[in-house]
Amino acid sequence: MSSATSVIEPIVFRWHQAEITAIAPVTPHVKSVRLRCALAQTYRAGQHVDVRLTAEDGYQAQRSYSIASAQDGSGTFELMIEALPDGEVSGWFSQCADVGDRVEMRGPIGGSFSWDGPDGGPLLLGGGGSGVVPLLAMLRRRAQHWRAIPAALIYSARTHAEMIALAELEQLAATDPQVSLHLAATREPGGKRIDAALVAGALTRIGAPGKVFLCGSNRFVAAASDLIMAAGVAPGLIRTERFGA
Ligand SMILES: Cc1cc2nc3c(=O)[nH]c(=O)nc-3n(C[C@H](O)[C@H](O)[C@H](O)COP(=O)(O)OP(=O)(O)OC[C@H]3O[C@@H](n4cnc5c(N)ncnc54)[C@H](O)[C@@H]3O)c2cc1C
Repeated sequence: MSSATSVIEPIVFRWHQAEITAIAPVTPHVKSVRLRCALAQTYRAGQHVDVRLTAEDGYQAQRSYSIASAQDGSGTFELMIEALPDGEVSGWFSQCADVGDRVEMRGPIGGSFSWDGPDGGPLLLGGGGSGVVPLLAMLRRRAQHWRAIPAALIYSARTHAEMIALAELEQLAATDPQVSLHLAATREPGGKRIDAALVAGALTRIGAPGKVFLCGSNRFVAAASDLIMAAGVAPGLIRTERFGA
């Protein structure tokens, strides 16, 4: 472990109280959850937090969730949580959580999977399902301060209806000529998976990427990495984060 990591560690791994200040559906299965927490003072786009729930009998469950918001000085941040069938923690957020409820959090976590500005040049982002959440934070951060940096988002989900923040992303792509959106709806009639043509379209819009961030299931991240490397992008530019098995 590097000395830099050991200096940061005591701050990162302390649990903090967080209070839900707003909760609302964003797709049929995903809720936006805004929380007030001391951790919201300093985080980079792309990072995640660990969330811990404690039942009355002391039973605890903890999971990781990416931060969807860009830092805005409000002392709050937004998570976007997809309800999985019989999911313990996502089920609580989906069915039980309400404004005023408290959970515990630690972080922010994910130094290498984070972005804050023009280090590296154009951004190539690839998200599968709820893996788009940390990439949304990067695009929101870019919109705050770094609009000159070209960015392309490749986003794969089962259907358009299940695409998180689709209206916001489409609006961004329609109004900002430096942003492009490349969608793959895998389970719609005529739908498709991420492929070489989608990657080529994204690269045509931004030119050579300075940083590549990929997030989603193992399957999505593996496919996206292979396609992007096959398109000539150096492996060393690619940062990945994987959800689930
Ligand atoms: C770095 C990181 C960031 C993440 N960010 C996000 C995010 O932004 N948004 C998001 O929605 N998720 C995110 N996740 C995923 C999240 O951490 C949880 O894994 C997810 O919410 C599921 O947790 P759960 O408690 O609801 O489900 P779990 O209770 O853990 O169950 C997961 C699934 O497995 C099934 N299952 C559980 N136990 C069994 C069993 N014994 N046999 C068969 N099936 C079983 C359940 O039915 C469920 O469908 C992230 C993960 C990581 C690692």
